[in-house]
Amino acid sequence: MDLSLVIPLYNEEESLPELCDWIQHVADQHQYDYEIILVDDGSTDQSWTVIEELSAINPRIKGIKFQRNYGKSAGLNEGFRAAQGNVVITMDADLQDSPDEIPKLYQMIAVEKYDLVSGWKKKRYDNTLTKNIPSKFFNATTRKVSGIKLHDFNCGLKAYRKKVIKSIEVYGEMHRYIPLLAKWSGFKKIGEKIVEHRPRKYGVTKFGWERFINGFLDILSIMFVGKFSKRPMHFFGMWGTLFFLAGLGISFYLVISKLMDANFALTNRPGFYISLSAIIIGMQLFLAGFIAELIARNAPGRNSYLIEKKVGL
Ligand code: UDP
Ligand code: MG
Repeated sequence: MDLSLVIPLYNEEESLPELCDWIQHVADQHQYDYEIILVDDGSTDQSWTVIEELSAINPRIKGIKFQRNYGKSAGLNEGFRAAQGNVVITMDADLQDSPDEIPKLYQMIAVEKYDLVSGWKKKRYDNTLTKNIPSKFFNATTRKVSGIKLHDFNCGLKAYRKKVIKSIEVYGEMHRYIPLLAKWSGFKKIGEKIVEHRPRKYGVTKFGWERFINGFLDILSIMFVGKFSKRPMHFFGMWGTLFFLAGLGISFYLVISKLMDANFALTNRPGFYISLSAIIIGMQLFLAGFIAELIARNAPGRNSYLIEKKVGL
């Protein structure tokens, strides 16, 4: 199969028929062998009924329904698992992303051999204060932290080589950082394409202010898991040892001063408390690292590495 479209949706009943019609039109024009995977993220409106109806008319339209609302990342993750196409394109269900962008994105993956192409909503039709300005800030931070030169990390419209989506796991609210996940997994050819963005036609936005906090915590876990999940001791052990040694050094100094001068006010100075806390914090960090190391040794995925190529097998 050439192409899978993965579309997570939450209460988008009005948009679905129009969206699927449009995608079908574009895909038929280019004669793709394609599938549309609609992931219903626990909608409380008629979205699922609509999906069933669409699927009955066109068997290329497939649906997955969650028991409850898990979030966009979960939807993408399930869609990725089911996808069979060599190129996988994700888009939002609210008609803000235009299916007319599909052929060019497809070509960038299939012909120009990108691993991942992210859409860039250069001209954006959302609220300036609550969406556009925070998003500029978010993108600048993520660019700095990740070293990936993208303008619009969180664009719903993205295209992937099949191998990329089969090797990453998206959970929490990590859909904002999929390019980072891909980079951590070793996929380096990441590109960008300016895409048309349209005002939301039906319904309302599903992301409120909580996205700031969750987004921030998620980037911390990504950085941390990406760097240290397979070797926790390198982080905790290092800081633990440093703290412990610093504490020990100060306490040595205090003890020797006391021995040399009986009037030395040992407990009456900041160094005393600093050394005590440093020793305790150091041991705690070390222990945390040690326990994490034991857990990591037992984790089923401890030895799963991505194999780029094989020969003679
Ligand atoms: N979405 C989802 N689960 C959620 C929230 C959103 O599947 O819990 C879907 C939503 O239906 C849409 C896409 O994610 O297809 C993007 O959401 P939205 O358009 O509300 O975000 P915005 O464009 O306002 O950032
Ligand atoms: Mg939207």
